[in-house]
Amino acid sequence: MRKAKVHTDHLGINPQKHSSTDESEPLYYVGFNVPVGRITSEQMRRVADIADRYGTGDIRLTTGQNLVIPNIPESRIGALSNEPLFQELPFNPSPIMRGLVSCTGNDYCPMALIETKGYAIKVARELERRCAGRKIAPLTIHWSGCPAGCGLHQIATIGMQGCRSRVNGQVVDAAHVCVNGKAGPDPSPATDIMYDVPISRLVDALEPLVTYLPR
Ligand code: SF4
Repeated sequence: MRKAKVHTDHLGINPQKHSSTDESEPLYYVGFNVPVGRITSEQMRRVADIADRYGTGDIRLTTGQNLVIPNIPESRIGALSNEPLFQELPFNPSPIMRGLVSCTGNDYCPMALIETKGYAIKVARELERRCAGRKIAPLTIHWSGCPAGCGLHQIATIGMQGCRSRVNGQVVDAAHVCVNGKAGPDPSPATDIMYDVPISRLVDALEPLVTYLPR
């Protein structure tokens, strides 16, 4: 089996592969960002409506917790890209948001040591704000709420593993931080670089990593 040379997140509007004998109109797919996979039922109905109107009604899920609508004819791409839904769930998100992944955390998991998805979005939004205008290389930021690692933090550019820490006698939500994990054709586990970072201090700790971490 041929190995893929690069890892792709399937975001953006991209051509689908066709056989050389296929003479029908070229087809495209749109992959768009659903930060940490959280979507409302109202948004999901709009996704289904767009899939029906522009494609064949198919919707696919990515391992990065995002969505893909395939089978869109080339002539429909202009109208598709102007759909208001993509203001909320963009197909061209910031480098910080496009690789954001989180396990369910204590919303639904009894093993979780901390809440994860809410923290992941909050920290990412603040990093986006602080890093606006800076050049940022593609990266992934993954969160797991405990050592089980369902958020695959050990294969992320920056990974967080939830924990509890003590600050001035108070027990607070915190995370261990690891970096430079990789999946795909040349995999390697991340390296731990910080332990017990209180969530309230995490943006300060991650800002230099987002900007300067060599990749
Ligand atoms: S990593 Fe831990 S907290 Fe997150 S879903 Fe898995 S078991 Fe639950």
